Amino acid sequence: MRGFRLPMRRVGDSLVRGRALLVGDAAGLVDPLSGDGIYEALFSSRLAAEAVLDLLGGRRADLEPYGERLELELAPMMSASWSAKQAFDRFPRLAFTIARTPPAWRLAERLLRDELPDPRSVSGTMRVPLQALRALAHAARRAEHAAATR
Ligand SMILES: Cc1cc2nc3c(=O)[nH]c(=O)nc-3n(C[C@H](O)[C@H](O)[C@H](O)COP(=O)(O)OP(=O)(O)OC[C@H]3O[C@@H](n4cnc5c(N)ncnc54)[C@H](O)[C@@H]3O)c2cc1C
Repeated sequence: MRGFRLPMRRVGDSLVRGRALLVGDAAGLVDPLSGDGIYEALFSSRLAAEAVLDLLGGRRADLEPYGERLELELAPMMSASWSAKQAFDRFPRLAFTIARTPPAWRLAERLLRDELPDPRSVSGTMRVPLQALRALAHAARRAEHAAATR
């Protein structure tokens, strides 16, 4: 068995400085739950290329729009993934029980088909597993905080 570190950014970590920008793993865009980063690498590269072309074409004065667009497009999914990861790490049995329910499967199907870019927009029964995982993540964070301050 051999382990590999997966680079993950924290909210607010900088993506652009001056005339330099970070894409893919260099930007820490790996999904916190799945560890996947190929989609994020390709997607961020496309946005980066557009930002560079805008700069070279004189349509924009800097590369800042890249960071703003990337944050806007990826942040909702990243935030949901962080919550799910915290829930699975801290309460694996309960989290897996929730993840195996039919509404959770429907939710996963829609996410994988890219029919739901922002998990916060989900409605109906599919909201239930999402809210339950968020509640577990919240409890996990509280437990972590309590352990750190003990
Ligand atoms: C074991 C493992 C399994 C994975 N499985 C999956 C998966 O199933 N699905 C998924 O979506 N993601 C997976 N990932 C994550 C995915 O591989 C990465 O998120 C993705 O490859 C990032 O692409 P990238 O172009 O940003 O970086 P990279 O693919 O790492 O490309 C960076 C390139 O830059 C080169 N380089 C580095 N330094 C220099 C230098 N100084 N000069 C010139 N070149 C340089 C490197 O050699 C490399 O070729 C996995 C990662 C690991 C480690």
